[in-house]
Amino acid sequence: MSQHTHSFQAEVAQLLHLVTHSLYSNPEIFLRELVSNASDACDKLRFAALGDASLYGDQPDLEVRLSFDAAAKTLTITDTGIGMSEQEAIDHLGTIAKSGTKAFMEQLSGDQKSDAQLIGQFGVGFYSGFIVADRITVESRRAGLPQTEGVRWTSTGTGDFVTETITRPARGTSVTLHLREDQQEFLNAWKLKSLVSKYSDHISLPILMEKEEWKEGENEGEPGGMVKTGEWETVNKASALWTRAKKDISAEQYREFYKSISHDHEDPLAWAHNRVEGNSEYTQLLYIPAKAPFDLYTRDKHAGVKLYVKRVFIMDDAEALLPQYLRFVKGVIDSADLPLNVSRELLQESRDVRLIRDGSVKRVLSMLEDLAKHDKHEAGTDADGVTDVVSEEDKAKEGKYTRFYAEFGPVLKEGLGEDFANRERIAKLLRFASTIGDAPTVGLADYKARMKEGQEAIYYITADTLAAAKNSPQLEVFKKKGIEVLLMTDRVDEWALNYLHDFDGTPLQSVAKGAVDLGKLQDEEEKKAAEEAAEAFKPLLAKLKEALKDKAEDVRVTARLVDSPACLVVQDGDMSSQLARMLKQAGQEVPGSKPVLEVNPDHALVRKLDGSVHFHDLAHILFDQALLAEGGHLEDPAAYVKRVNALLV
Ligand code: ADP
Repeated sequence: MSQHTHSFQAEVAQLLHLVTHSLYSNPEIFLRELVSNASDACDKLRFAALGDASLYGDQPDLEVRLSFDAAAKTLTITDTGIGMSEQEAIDHLGTIAKSGTKAFMEQLSGDQKSDAQLIGQFGVGFYSGFIVADRITVESRRAGLPQTEGVRWTSTGTGDFVTETITRPARGTSVTLHLREDQQEFLNAWKLKSLVSKYSDHISLPILMEKEEWKEGENEGEPGGMVKTGEWETVNKASALWTRAKKDISAEQYREFYKSISHDHEDPLAWAHNRVEGNSEYTQLLYIPAKAPFDLYTRDKHAGVKLYVKRVFIMDDAEALLPQYLRFVKGVIDSADLPLNVSRELLQESRDVRLIRDGSVKRVLSMLEDLAKHDKHEAGTDADGVTDVVSEEDKAKEGKYTRFYAEFGPVLKEGLGEDFANRERIAKLLRFASTIGDAPTVGLADYKARMKEGQEAIYYITADTLAAAKNSPQLEVFKKKGIEVLLMTDRVDEWALNYLHDFDGTPLQSVAKGAVDLGKLQDEEEKKAAEEAAEAFKPLLAKLKEALKDKAEDVRVTARLVDSPACLVVQDGDMSSQLARMLKQAGQEVPGSKPVLEVNPDHALVRKLDGSVHFHDLAHILFDQALLAEGGHLEDPAAYVKRVNALLV
């Protein structure tokens, strides 16, 4: 037999040099690459045979076999795919056909670390075998060629490779890796099986391995060992759940799959399974869990969506596939367009990934909208007098949104700041407690629908606790007038609300910020009384301002108080006192802006102030009490106590 020596294309030689000089930190990925090539070869034969069924010859099965020979230290991956002719082996395994390869290689700097990253993006495919092998032998026969036209390709992964013509009865390709001394761990059935289940479980072809069984030593005292039985078994599931038609998958199977990918033992609340065609082709199977994981708020928490490319597992925590505020979503996205060796860096920039991400966000939001819509089914007839018939399916959704919101509401709110394009949809999904009910069940749309005649804003207050929010003096006039105010007590509220200035055309207004403008909610008489009070109190306000000049930015009369003598408000655009306290607790520097003291002109204490011999003490008590009432801390509690005691005596 005549052997021919060929030189690798310069770029391949360069690539091989990098591969063999410890390109990958995890060498095991070679198996994924080679199994994926084998699977591709089978896909190609399947396609070619559509036009010429004789290509199958006497081997109709498409499959991949993994075998190893511990004595020879070889691992072999065999497929019954399309195979290669000698010329194809020379071309495909000696050059890189990708466009832009040369330009890409020119970017390499010679610095091992940054080059390794670049090359990871580029993808090494077949050549990854040289991570673990110091010699690779490929034997192949192209489907349709006679047995005498097989090829053997051999290389040590340095400058050149050798080919020769061989007789090969079997169609397809076998790749034999002569493992390096330090890579012998792959000569182990258990190890190989675990890698198959990790990376290739969802390859739709069967991956077969020879069964082994335990055999005692022949003679007394001789150790036993595992021996091959000659029987082959499939070691992958050989069918990806998400590739099957929806109608063929039971709810139970969907749930089991969720558990297997999420390591959650509870059933998910909902899922969506779709094949998307068009600009970018992909399948998505996305789940909404019922319970938040303990580390939901750890900032570097990875996303829960697995990325597959053509059923080959690529990565586990592809953050680029969903925004942070949807990090609770679990599932699988299987792209038909992305390259197999796509890296994280590449994912961030890929147009396909952007399309997938946009599509997935929309899908998750509509899943949530659907749960929200069916959260409660009031019995009886609906608005148009038709008796509401609730299907079993919709009934099963009852209460789910409430459960979802209790677990993930604060995370969803982050979306207001993170996802501008979907802000309106996210805002609609938010739920709050309000002065009408303690449970966080009020949506902004519900609120809007029952706003009072003449009400021009959605009012809210933020506080540390529900009790503090409910009893806040700033709410008094709203309570008196029967105007609903949303009570916000999540840590993220203050930040998130910065990004939501209005909802469906109606502005959101904090009742603790700026001068209260009740607008049309005040009648003429009230307006007139307020103006008169402001005029009459001018001298008193000036005196208060002088007395409190170290504490208050301004002092003014307000219409927002009914029972309380005074309250503090922050200027429009300033940080709320609740947020300032939170930041201080977290040890952060807070820009020191002073609040405004607002006094109730109708309150007896305020009326008594003028002319009192205790004016100075009363002014400070008024301020300190307002601060206490909103849950703040006095700067000098002892001074406060002393002043109050002096008055009591
Ligand atoms: P890629 O798969 O990204 O094209 P590889 O370096 O992995 O790059 O493989 C180069 C080429 O070698 C493939 O495109 C294919 O034509 C050929 N090849 C590799 N493995 C096989 C195989 N098992 N059967 C048939 N052809 C193969």
